[in-house]
Amino acid sequence: NKENVKGFLRHNLFVLLTIAAVALGVLLGFALRPHNLTIREIRYFAFPGELLMRMLQMLVLPLIVSSLVTGISSLDNKASGKMGMRAVVYYMVTTLIAVFIGIVIVMVLKPGKGHRDSPVASSGTIEPVQAADAFLDLIRNMFPPNLVEACFKQETVVELIPVSGSSNGVNALGLVVFSMCFGLVIGSMKQQGQALRDFFDCLNEAIMRLVAIIIWYAPVGILFLIAGKIVEMKNLAEVGGQLGMYTVSVIVGLLIHGLFVLPLLYFLVTRKNPYTFIAGLLQALITALGTSSSSATLPITFRCLEENNRVDKRVTRFVLPVGATINMDGTALYEAVAAIFIAQVNDMELNFGQILTISITATAASIGAAGIPQAGLVTMVIVLTSVGLPTEDITLIIAVDWFLDRLRTTTNVLGDSVGAGIVEHLSRQELQSQDVEVGNSVIEE
Ligand code: ASP
Repeated sequence: NKENVKGFLRHNLFVLLTIAAVALGVLLGFALRPHNLTIREIRYFAFPGELLMRMLQMLVLPLIVSSLVTGISSLDNKASGKMGMRAVVYYMVTTLIAVFIGIVIVMVLKPGKGHRDSPVASSGTIEPVQAADAFLDLIRNMFPPNLVEACFKQETVVELIPVSGSSNGVNALGLVVFSMCFGLVIGSMKQQGQALRDFFDCLNEAIMRLVAIIIWYAPVGILFLIAGKIVEMKNLAEVGGQLGMYTVSVIVGLLIHGLFVLPLLYFLVTRKNPYTFIAGLLQALITALGTSSSSATLPITFRCLEENNRVDKRVTRFVLPVGATINMDGTALYEAVAAIFIAQVNDMELNFGQILTISITATAASIGAAGIPQAGLVTMVIVLTSVGLPTEDITLIIAVDWFLDRLRTTTNVLGDSVGAGIVEHLSRQELQSQDVEVGNSVIEE
């Protein structure tokens, strides 16, 4: 029995440490709140958390590129095509379900009904934006004119609201598109492409080893990220009234999607226990909660899926970087709830066509949002302008956004991971036949 306990501890050490870190972070945060620390003091205090964020972000770029290139070039074109199709169908279906859940909940709970509360302290002004321009920006970013620039800059013609914390402006979408095409080409080059395949494969392996080192530091970073945020948090009373109901609506929606819909889908497809799968992801989910960034969480998501849930690397390498960039169920749900909430606050009755427009633009806005803190708040502009709602009303929801951002990011990461599990299950035939091919060539050699 003692052996059992030891085995359990060894296996779940990081998960237990991470959970302990969250608990300690919350306690420490609340213990320090009464001391009214200055902004500078808070920044010093949260420094270990900032370091974790930076270490994770450092790995994202080489990780996205190397995993996509190796993932795709190691599959034959037919197999990668099928896998890609399955992933895209999964992304679309789950994102639309998330939007639907959001719409139903905000229509039932009506958080914005009644008199307009005085707007909560606004930060920054918002330029009027055309939805069409924002759409073009999305497509523009898919084709970066300069790859080096794409590593540190997103292209925006449209001036959007400045949001704190979103300094990591990697054009992930552009890099994803490039890496996928590059991987496809290398894959089709057969023997000639072997050197590049080996290079990216080795790069990917080296990055994953760096991830294994950073994982040791993750609990410390998460502790200070969470404690720092709790100390910094403005007056909690702000979250009363309309904003409180709005917050509840988003949370209920995210919980339904994350705890029931995604697990049910996973079970229906794979016939395996979804909650065991989710338990294996715990560390990634907590990191998402701590960092508010699905991009920064990506290294940990990889590790959880490959090490704990034993998902095939050919699937994770392909599906995860794409998912972290374009598949954001939590963000889509939140965009729909927020837009309808703002309509309710403005006493605007939405007809069926407008609700449909909100569903479509919320989906687009979630695809366009980068996996960085509060990116969803910025792409909200697309949804609001599409139905003629005042964009300056985004300031109404800014006060609680840091909190909802953490929750929707966790849902985003969960959606990507469940997607990898489902795609792996659906693609087992292709994976097996690929195994046979590789096995044969090994024997021939
Ligand atoms: N922070 C979210 C993410 O990284 C995006 C968002 O703001 O909704 O997934």
